[in-house]
Amino acid sequence: MDRLALDVRNLSLFIQSESVDKAIFEDVSFCLGVSSLLAIVGESGGGKSLLCKSLLKLTPANARLSGSAILSGLQTSIDLISCSESEMEAIRGSRIGMIFQEPASSMNPVMTCGEQICDALPKAVRADKILARRKIAEILEFVGFKDLNRIVRSYPHELSGGMLQKVATVLAIAGEPSILIADEPSTALDAVNRFELMELFQRLRNEFGMSILWVTHELHSALTCADGLLVMYAGNVMESGSVAEIAEHPKHPYTKALLDVEKSFREPGGPRPIPEEILPTKKRDGGCVFAGRCEFTKPICRNKNPKWESNESRQGWRCHFPLK
Ligand code: SF4
Repeated sequence: MDRLALDVRNLSLFIQSESVDKAIFEDVSFCLGVSSLLAIVGESGGGKSLLCKSLLKLTPANARLSGSAILSGLQTSIDLISCSESEMEAIRGSRIGMIFQEPASSMNPVMTCGEQICDALPKAVRADKILARRKIAEILEFVGFKDLNRIVRSYPHELSGGMLQKVATVLAIAGEPSILIADEPSTALDAVNRFELMELFQRLRNEFGMSILWVTHELHSALTCADGLLVMYAGNVMESGSVAEIAEHPKHPYTKALLDVEKSFREPGGPRPIPEEILPTKKRDGGCVFAGRCEFTKPICRNKNPKWESNESRQGWRCHFPLK
């Protein structure tokens, strides 16, 4: 990885309550290179979405964030976790764009798509009406729209799911950010729209040098498009590294289980999900969070938290008994 766009170190998020603070994710570290695509994979409930929102400080009021996330810039770098709300307002949209899971949730239902896209453009472009109109048309064409006037005049509820997703993407990139965070953008899309979105990611990287952080549970797409993988389970990073290394030699049993599920889609009998708890995990504190579902669990796994280890090719894992 040559130049870094984002360097996240020991990021943790706790939701505070009267009795006990609940960890949503803990000790998450990763690097996102310039023009690269890092896919965050894992089953639902692993803390992936809140991890993305945390990078833009879009967390609940009772959340406590710790760690650092250094956003590199041409002149200055800034820690997203310790920056002020006014600094963050200047970063959202213009340095980091985000496609949210539910495209409609990021749109205003009483404004046309054209008005909303105009609001998302850089200030200097917005100030010049002719330039703004041209820019809106360019971005709409870039994401694959043909009937531009119709999209510009439409309200969100007048568009199909696939079109809404594209408009949400336009809103996320209109401010010309260097980083795009995409939180499960393809979940509700059919195969054609999904393929188009994957292609769009590649063009954003190649033509604009955009770095992409992509949350997905579609491991197959991640293996095809991403450079790096971050495998999360129950708020913990289980494994990270290059797609090539992990697909060929997964070190963590959870990664292997996810790859086996992926393989089973193409085998007779259809998909076989990871079994629920093989042995119930009564107490997770101090032990591996995957112990209850892991086929290789040994007594130490239930008592001692595995340490993060890595090899010379920067593949890292959290397991007492990494796979050979
Ligand atoms: S530490 Fe033990 S339980 Fe956890 S993944 Fe490794 S082998 Fe399985």
